[in-house]
Amino acid sequence: MQPLPTFDLVLFGGTGDLAMRKLLPALYRRKASGYLSAKSRVLGVARSELSRDEYLAQVQASCQTYLGKDYDEKRWAEFAQHVDYVKVDASAPEDFAGLKKKLEGCDEHGRAFFLSVAPDLFAPICEGLATHSLATPNSRVVLEKPLGHDQASSAQINERVGRIFSEQQIFRIDHYLGKETVQNLLALRFGNTLFEPLWRRGRVKHVQITVAEELGVERRAGFYDETGALRDMVQNHLLQLLCIIAMEPPATSDPDAMRDEKLKVLRALRPLRGRDVLHKTVRGQYKAGAAGGKPVVGYLDEKDVPNDSKTETFVALRVDIDSWRWVGVPFYLRTGKRLQEKLSEIVVTFEDVPLSIYERPDTPQALNRLVIQLQPDESIELTVLAKFPGEVMRLRPVNLSLDFSETFKAPRLDAYERLLTDVLKGNLTLFMRRDELEAAWQWIDPIRQAWDQSDEAPKTYTAGSWGPAAASALLGRDGFAWRNEL
Ligand code: NAP
Repeated sequence: MQPLPTFDLVLFGGTGDLAMRKLLPALYRRKASGYLSAKSRVLGVARSELSRDEYLAQVQASCQTYLGKDYDEKRWAEFAQHVDYVKVDASAPEDFAGLKKKLEGCDEHGRAFFLSVAPDLFAPICEGLATHSLATPNSRVVLEKPLGHDQASSAQINERVGRIFSEQQIFRIDHYLGKETVQNLLALRFGNTLFEPLWRRGRVKHVQITVAEELGVERRAGFYDETGALRDMVQNHLLQLLCIIAMEPPATSDPDAMRDEKLKVLRALRPLRGRDVLHKTVRGQYKAGAAGGKPVVGYLDEKDVPNDSKTETFVALRVDIDSWRWVGVPFYLRTGKRLQEKLSEIVVTFEDVPLSIYERPDTPQALNRLVIQLQPDESIELTVLAKFPGEVMRLRPVNLSLDFSETFKAPRLDAYERLLTDVLKGNLTLFMRRDELEAAWQWIDPIRQAWDQSDEAPKTYTAGSWGPAAASALLGRDGFAWRNEL
């Protein structure tokens, strides 16, 4: 195993939920796999007054919780040697002196500042780093979502961060792109010839992208009520998945070749404005129901949610892409909280045969379908028609499955593990470029505005269902159904 070049990873928000649940366990795994060189450091940063030992105790507890059976005392002791803590209040410029002291004399190390904090701290942190000469030319900065709440605020953050770090130093994370199955989707599309001739209008009937959560708003109600599902999920994760499905083959594996192609998709999205928004989008809000077999409260009864909130916890949209490849092929996107199960999948449904000479079921299940599942399991499944055994030529759908955990016994990287490695290697392929982000907001903003101007409240749905009936009608009108309704 070749370790990564020596680095200092400065984790702003080092005591927060994301750091404890995802980032630090991912770094522990990197250490366990031999990727952390002896002198590499992980510096947790937050406002809390904590000694190194107190911080290590918190990190250890979360590694034990979130790594489960992968946690090992000996490995923990090895990882702990890399971890340290610095108290910095990001809004107090003088506090950066403590961080400067920790980083002193290590300018030759690769340096990455991971900003796992609220986005209004992104610019002050970058400015604090610049004032104390910590943003060296070989530094990188990693920005977590949400990057603003609309195009204007996102542009403002990008502008201020861009004065300190060049675009090549800025890593905007969308952790969906770090998932193994998304990489496999790229392999399937651009490492094989099989699908390319079929990957277009005339061959593809429609595409569905679902990111369903069983959880409600949990501890993030305050943040969520300001944000809603459109900004929290569609603007980033769902549009990024759509880009991966819809983009043209990049000419090379160069990061910008891929990002150029994704940008073209975002710019080809047919704008949704005014009445179109009401016709082609559905927003919902969950009411009391059940999750995991237990009763749960509705969104308006969640702690920290105002009881007249109109924030959407569910969105479904019909999206059209005005390009030669895709015009006329509807893409349906759907995401929500408190849905029936945790499920992220992309479903590409192909056109039917022009003439059927065999007896076959006359149902949508009989169409060729490619299902790319990202959660809970990562798999790719292709539905084809095959002959049912017996004398008569009767066709029935069967699935050709590629279950990655069955097929490849090699350990798989968690999304944050991969993305952190890419940051430390300087590979920008799976990170959003500024123009991509702004094009996504440009498409999203008019939808939000049309909703805000409408008197219509979000449609309610029972927690534990698949969302409002209107979401089924959105596809039903076009003669289709969500895969779970087939
Ligand atoms: P969190 O649990 O509220 O943690 C926030 C962290 O920021 C804490 O470590 C906090 O520590 C620190 N902090 C707050 N104000 C600070 C300041 N002025 N100076 C220095 N540190 C400060 O939030 P989170 O859930 O980890 O999320 C962090 C960011 O990632 C948010 O923007 C969130 O939207 C985004 N995100 C989170 C998730 C997730 O699953 N949690 C997923 C995707 C994106 P102190 O209070 O000690 O300062």
